[in-house]
Amino acid sequence: MIKPTIKLYENDSYIKEFFATVLSCEEKDGIYYVVLDKTAFFPEGGGQDADKGKICNVDVLDVQIKDDVIYHKVNKPFNENETVSCEIDWETRFSRMQNHTGEHIVSGVIHSLFGYNNVGFHMNDTLVTLDVDGSLSDKDIKRVELKSNKAIYDNKNIKAIYPTASELDNYDYRSKLDITEGVRLIEIEDTDLCACCAPHVAKTGEIGIIKIISHIPYKKGTRIEMLCGMLAFNDYSNLHSTNKSVMNMLSAKRFEIPESVERIQSELTSARVENKKLLSELATLKMEKHINENTVCVFIDGVSYDELRNCSNSLIEEFEYCYLFSNTDADNYIYVVSSKENSVRDLVQNLNKTFNGKGGGRDTYAQGKITASKDEILKFFV
Ligand SMILES: [Zn+2]
Repeated sequence: MIKPTIKLYENDSYIKEFFATVLSCEEKDGIYYVVLDKTAFFPEGGGQDADKGKICNVDVLDVQIKDDVIYHKVNKPFNENETVSCEIDWETRFSRMQNHTGEHIVSGVIHSLFGYNNVGFHMNDTLVTLDVDGSLSDKDIKRVELKSNKAIYDNKNIKAIYPTASELDNYDYRSKLDITEGVRLIEIEDTDLCACCAPHVAKTGEIGIIKIISHIPYKKGTRIEMLCGMLAFNDYSNLHSTNKSVMNMLSAKRFEIPESVERIQSELTSARVENKKLLSELATLKMEKHINENTVCVFIDGVSYDELRNCSNSLIEEFEYCYLFSNTDADNYIYVVSSKENSVRDLVQNLNKTFNGKGGGRDTYAQGKITASKDEILKFFV
């Protein structure tokens, strides 16, 4: 029977390097499961991934806990009773501490303002997701975000408390557990009290910033996505770069992008209306081939199906049959063939067959593409 591992991260979450003694090293499928007498590696649990790092310069692939024994997965064996030097990947761990503690603050603030409970939590190295059992509006979220960030600027103390079973009744804390022995409570001064086994920062100021980036209705409650500390800073930097590129493209000032886009959208709408009108006029001017008084064949190069369809819609007022073509590249043409009230199916089938084409539509309208020269197309209709 292996002794429970001493969890160094529980009393001091700032241990980056430590020495430990190997109690056992079992091999399974080429992976070695190393148990140490004590460890600062946090095992996967409570919505948080296992710590990364090294044991004697060997990468720790995963860390799991079972029956209070912590197993470090590595791909190299260690000897029993060997003393090993261990190193936590501190950048990753500290970012997780910032984000995990930030999640406590947001959940605590939501609980104090609205009485909702945290019913789901997941954190990876790019995002924190949390679910609460009540609805939150945009305005509510702003309130939560502001109060959470104020808790950061107040630089509140954070500590772990280990109440006895009898003392536990005196505490009003979140995430009540069925167990009464060995409960670890994380207290964020004046802000939150929650049962949790993970490492946290010691002062709220270390979180730097909390930013809620989305909130959506989820299972009768709300799903929140948020970023804290370095993740939030990186997100802000990326958004700033994006904003700067868009500012340059629009020649707009920092906070004037929406007005610029609105102006461009309105200009684009006018241009589209004008373009439609001009294309119809152009199509009329370019009626190069009146096959007969009921039928017209028009070539307008470099336009889209939508534009051909628009021309066809206006020409069909005057002609029974309209055949419109646009040259896309070399001898490739897209076409729109339409009729006011007669079927164009046979004609389109024949057109596709003759010019190795593809396309179709409904009885009185078809669009597609063919490979042919302009002369060949004109000859087809005569
Ligand atoms: Zn926690």
